[in-house]
Amino acid sequence: MDFLLIFLACSLCIWAEVHAVPIISETENKTTINWKNDVVEDPKGRNFWTNPAQRWPKGRIPYVLSSEYSAADVKIIMDAMHEWSSKTCVRFTPKTPSDTSYVEITPNDGTSSYCYCHVGRRGGKQLMKMFGECMRPAAMIHEFGHLIGFNHEHQRPDRSDYITVHFGNIDPAFHFAFDQFDRREVDALKMPYDFNSVMQYPFFAFAKKYDKKRPSMTLKDGSIDAIFRETEQLSQIDILKTQLYFNNCR
Ligand SMILES: [Zn+2]
Repeated sequence: MDFLLIFLACSLCIWAEVHAVPIISETENKTTINWKNDVVEDPKGRNFWTNPAQRWPKGRIPYVLSSEYSAADVKIIMDAMHEWSSKTCVRFTPKTPSDTSYVEITPNDGTSSYCYCHVGRRGGKQLMKMFGECMRPAAMIHEFGHLIGFNHEHQRPDRSDYITVHFGNIDPAFHFAFDQFDRREVDALKMPYDFNSVMQYPFFAFAKKYDKKRPSMTLKDGSIDAIFRETEQLSQIDILKTQLYFNNCR
């Protein structure tokens, strides 16, 4: 499986206009950026993120949106796209005949019972399955982060300096979602740990039950306040990382 399961939970992305997009300095642009598939390993053990082909060229992501979505669903999808495209250089554009690599966003792939999203660009057609509990603003924004190329904040190589994962409180079937990446495989772009990232799970993610006393994660001091809920807005670091990763989409 080289796709990403969603722990809880586009369209005529006409909102793809450029707004105030931060520009990374020339020095920062030269930062080496290596990403890795986050939750599920590639079957060949390949590191997605050292392959430039896994990066959407110039931050442009062609998409096809299933006609099965309701108007309310479409709004959630479009709003999530807008959150990314209005604050970063990433653009979602309806697929054109010349787009051979694109994402199809669908509530039904005919096979799996999970929502999922490939991390970054795969080449050719790739699916992003979103339905049911996944149709929430926070989950949608998070999943578009994966589509763009982001891995989870809580899987950073240095995560143990900031959070403690309580595997005993987590459904064993999803322990993999808390694997920690190796420093040789993932580059956090020298950014500080970001509890406010849309790629940070909340304390109850994949917990056996929603219980503040049995969280899947806490901060090092045992608190959960900083990861109490999902966020529906990109953090400043989310924005800067996106700009770095795509070299300002040039
Ligand atoms: Zn995720």
